[in-house]
Amino acid sequence: MSFLSYLQGLSREKLSLRLYSCTSKEVEKALQSPQGSLESLLALLSPAAEPYLEQMAQASTLLTRQRFGANIGMYLPLYLSNLCANECDYCGFSMSNRIKRKTLNLDELNAEMSVIKSMSYDSILLVSGEHETKVGIDYFSSVLPSVKASFSYVAIEVQPLKETEYSQLVGLGLDAVMIYQETYNPQTYAKHHTRGNKKDFAYRLETPERVARAGVDKIGLGVLLGLDDWRLDALLLGHHLEYLESHFWRTRYSVSLPRLRPCTGGIAPKVELTDKGLVQLICAFRLFNHQLEISLSTRESAELRDNLLGLGVTQLSAGSSTQPGGYLAPDTQLDQFEISDERTPNEVCAAMKARGFNPVWKDWESAWV
Ligand code: SF4
Repeated sequence: MSFLSYLQGLSREKLSLRLYSCTSKEVEKALQSPQGSLESLLALLSPAAEPYLEQMAQASTLLTRQRFGANIGMYLPLYLSNLCANECDYCGFSMSNRIKRKTLNLDELNAEMSVIKSMSYDSILLVSGEHETKVGIDYFSSVLPSVKASFSYVAIEVQPLKETEYSQLVGLGLDAVMIYQETYNPQTYAKHHTRGNKKDFAYRLETPERVARAGVDKIGLGVLLGLDDWRLDALLLGHHLEYLESHFWRTRYSVSLPRLRPCTGGIAPKVELTDKGLVQLICAFRLFNHQLEISLSTRESAELRDNLLGLGVTQLSAGSSTQPGGYLAPDTQLDQFEISDERTPNEVCAAMKARGFNPVWKDWESAWV
């Protein structure tokens, strides 16, 4: 059974009712045995868990320290292109937005990579808008060898591809694919994705399965917090993670928990997730899955990112640009969304070290595998 069929077999109404009628007794039971239990995840994400936040934070901190030590993996997004053939009403790259469009050629890509290498990064996330014809498999295949020659860990966050295309990119050195469903509510999804291939909820939902079958080392899942009820979306993200781990146990997984940020022509969050809610979310996922990598981008403020260190987060970006060519020549007209933490990598690392954490630039060497 695919995850699409699995999801169609779940009743959103029943899950929502259970989330919002959860009792403190159920939360206390969940705290006793949270690992791998979707029942416990539901309880920990519920409003009834809010009074237990301190207890959840302490347990989450301990588990994160036991599994990941004081290490925080450092990565940086490199925007290849802001061309996009989709309309997503929360994103500055939407096709109807009248912004300057740019796709990096190989020389421009090399120039960006030099700047990023000078910041010490060795793990890179290649990002692009979704434009099948101009920034498709041929483009990715042409740039990947150069990127892999400079970075030991290469992830992509681009449009959903075919299984054979993922296999082709694995052959060129691809290590990870980030593919965020944005929301697990098909109605909300349809409302926010109004034109282009991204309208296809089912094809996107089944992408992680194609990625896993193609033998990619790591898959990153996520929802855009604010599009729909974050508690229910997070719970269904947990279901998706559990499904994938049980079907594709060789693959590693990470989750990203981005909150909706302002952008050119963008919308305001429908459902606001407070800082306290974000803490609950991170702790609930850590208690549910001890191995899970959790990343936090520069969408969040410096103060919050510093305070969340050690709680459950294991991956951070710093000094990010969200525009193609932005490391060499920043141009605010090309941004995908506004960044909140604008500190340099050195400043972020200094803050990290002051709290007893180690920034890790490289934790992967293919020759040892
Ligand atoms: S979210 Fe992705 S697909 Fe949608 S407009 Fe932005 S870049 Fe394009």
